Amino acid sequence: MRTKLIVGNWKMNGNLAANATLLRDLLAEPTATGCDVGVCVPVPYLAQVHALLAGTAIELGAQDLSAHAVGAYTGEVSAAMLKDFGVRYCLVGHSERRQYHGESDVLVADKAKAALAAGITPIVCVGETLAERQAGLTQDVVKRQLAAVIHANGHCISEIVVAYEPVWAIGTGQVASPEQAQAVHALLRLQLQAASPHAERMKILYGGSMNAANAAALLAQVDIDGGLVGGAALKAPDFLSIIAAAQQG
Ligand code: PEP
Repeated sequence: MRTKLIVGNWKMNGNLAANATLLRDLLAEPTATGCDVGVCVPVPYLAQVHALLAGTAIELGAQDLSAHAVGAYTGEVSAAMLKDFGVRYCLVGHSERRQYHGESDVLVADKAKAALAAGITPIVCVGETLAERQAGLTQDVVKRQLAAVIHANGHCISEIVVAYEPVWAIGTGQVASPEQAQAVHALLRLQLQAASPHAERMKILYGGSMNAANAAALLAQVDIDGGLVGGAALKAPDFLSIIAAAQQG
């Protein structure tokens, strides 16, 4: 039995006052049981959120990191720097990074490696575009993306979290059906089984327009172990509803 994991991706949203209000509202609910929770926040707010989450059940996450450990990489943030602020999770290979910043499968794999080396759990995002799905390429794309991370990380692969995020579902309101998502999750589980003796305990999250209304059906699927939540993570009642669905699922 895998404990569910719900992770909010705040993307480039928030400010000091709004973050404090959102976290106050999330923390006003009783501590989540039977479900792990995290929030991936913009870098300038890591210190603020680290302080506000101290001693709570919500874990701190980041949205990206450098593949390099240290040095002349202007604008980049290393895994060790994130670790200094208590970061537990870090997204790698989010489709917005792949799309807008040209991140390759190899770079994503190296970022996962950098996170693991620092004791941060990388949440490795994979997913196909609409054109790729329509061309029947979904399986090829997600397998290729995950294979690069498996190849670069050897036995450490057991320590990653995978997030299946169909690009056509992210921020569009067009969620994958539970059956569509489960089919890809089952495929990813098989791929993990071939790479790790611990695949049964590894978490595969679904992301893409997950909300309070559709979360329960998605989270009831056998290989969907939680959610990576964008827009709905910015509204406390919606995020809390998704957490509640995960506690029951
Ligand atoms: C995301 O950013 O990872 C995401 C899933 O966004 P949304 O929930 O808004 O589709």
